Amino acid sequence: MNRKGVTLQVQERGLIIAIDGPAGAGKSTVAKIIAKRLGYRYINTGDLYRYITYWALQRRMNVKNCEEMDILSGEIAKKLKEMSQKENSIEKYFSLDSDISDKIHSPNVDKNVSFVAQHQNVRKNLVSIQRFLAKNGSTVIEGRDIGSVILPDADLKFFLTADEYTRILRRYEELKERNYTVSFQEVEKEMMKRDQIDSKREIAPLIKPVDAILIDTSNKNIHEVTEIVLKKIQTHLKRKIHGNHKS
Ligand code: C5P
Repeated sequence: MNRKGVTLQVQERGLIIAIDGPAGAGKSTVAKIIAKRLGYRYINTGDLYRYITYWALQRRMNVKNCEEMDILSGEIAKKLKEMSQKENSIEKYFSLDSDISDKIHSPNVDKNVSFVAQHQNVRKNLVSIQRFLAKNGSTVIEGRDIGSVILPDADLKFFLTADEYTRILRRYEELKERNYTVSFQEVEKEMMKRDQIDSKREIAPLIKPVDAILIDTSNKNIHEVTEIVLKKIQTHLKRKIHGNHKS
């Protein structure tokens, strides 16, 4: 294939960029900016677990009960699958409720989401949706197990982290912005508990995949972090084009 042909081929199927890390590491902010800059789709997989948790709490269900969570997540996943196959997107599903973003980011959802996310069948019910949405590439997808379980062949993997104090402070500020009243200590307690469950659970725990690029965002602003990520993407693309030319 000629030079031009190869270059086009690389550009046609956009990259799949996986961003994992604990709460408050800055994943969402960075992932959204990167997706916008590249013209890629942005997928926040945490919102899927949050959505199921929100409805479990609304229906006064027991988030620790496997069977109850299996049924609820199955129901929601079915609707999301139908929507994603019809529209190739699930944004519309979420936009049916204009306040959903605040509702699924409430302190009560924070407190319960890790219990919901540790059930095997809940995770199983969400796997195919996540893979389906990312299948055409040109996607920035964030979560806890994207690079390790959902899309282990992602083109580029990042693992964002930050020290505990910074992560708690970011979450505390976010809740204040959403008009929720919580103390710093409450956020600290909730976040430590969530970290512990997310990283110690049996299925798809939060881990840094060996091939993920680690970025500590503690002393960096958003601009600095996005620049690091963008540079890594550029280098990756250059290598890919260069590699293809050689073969
Ligand atoms: O990313 P966010 O903090 O909104 O995620 C909320 C929760 O959803 C996490 O604490 C975790 O329990 C769960 N989650 C997960 N796997 C993902 C994304 C989120 O278990 N890929």
